[in-house]
Amino acid sequence: KEGLILAALVMAVLVVGIWFIYSSVKKEVNLAQIKSEFISNVSHEIRTPLALISMYAETLEMGRVNSPEKAREYYQTINSESQRLNAMVDKILNFSRMEKGRYKFKTEVCNLYNICAEVLGNYQEHYNGADISFNADSLLPEILADKVSVSEALLNLIDNAVKYSRDNKKIEITTGHEDRMCFVEVKDNGIGISKKDQKHIFDRFYRVTRQNLANEVKGTGLGLSIVCETMKAHKGRVTVQSKPGAGSSFRLYFPVIRKSN
Ligand code: ADP
Repeated sequence: KEGLILAALVMAVLVVGIWFIYSSVKKEVNLAQIKSEFISNVSHEIRTPLALISMYAETLEMGRVNSPEKAREYYQTINSESQRLNAMVDKILNFSRMEKGRYKFKTEVCNLYNICAEVLGNYQEHYNGADISFNADSLLPEILADKVSVSEALLNLIDNAVKYSRDNKKIEITTGHEDRMCFVEVKDNGIGISKKDQKHIFDRFYRVTRQNLANEVKGTGLGLSIVCETMKAHKGRVTVQSKPGAGSSFRLYFPVIRKSN
């Protein structure tokens, strides 16, 4: 009888051991796959602007552009594509700094409404073709925030709302407060996200793979991870509500500054 118990124990240890080895190998394989997808996504993101820049620069250099209007158009494209490249490199560097805890968050007393108004004021024309409305509560309690990273997080949400919408690019931005938290919401009428994918979209490098718009849209899978890191640093949180085909809404919640009496 003792022999049987011993054999059962050995079997159990063996099964647990094999399962442990299997799951760690699977994790490694998944990680390697995610990393290689990230590299291929970034390469794709770099290739398009680079190709445009070099083609336009070469055409200009060879004196093949006759009209000054056309030349201006080419210079503008070179400029905007360089900015796109710059923004992407910034995104990757910022993520890496945040992840290592090396990003310097410079917090100050602010009003979330003002941050949103400034971001929209600066970037509204960048999103031409999208119908962005800002229905916000300006009388918000104050929060402690690093304006630069919060603006960046908000821009990531707006970028996604525009990117993952089809023809109906109607995007609503609202601010408000509840339970000693201030929030900003970005709501779109785009392709939406399934419940299963909602669990992973904040993971680094994660991109939803589906045979539709999300596959055609370029990205690095870092935007929402940056949003997540930023909210952690602000002791806040990010939430998502979404339904495939019906759109998504993301909210950033910040704790209100407690006034001592
Ligand atoms: P990226 O947009 O570069 O792929 P993100 O981290 O910003 O990376 O987003 C991760 C994934 O979440 C995206 O690939 C996309 O599938 C999904 N997603 C994010 N925002 C939205 C949205 N507003 N509507 C639909 N899907 C979204």
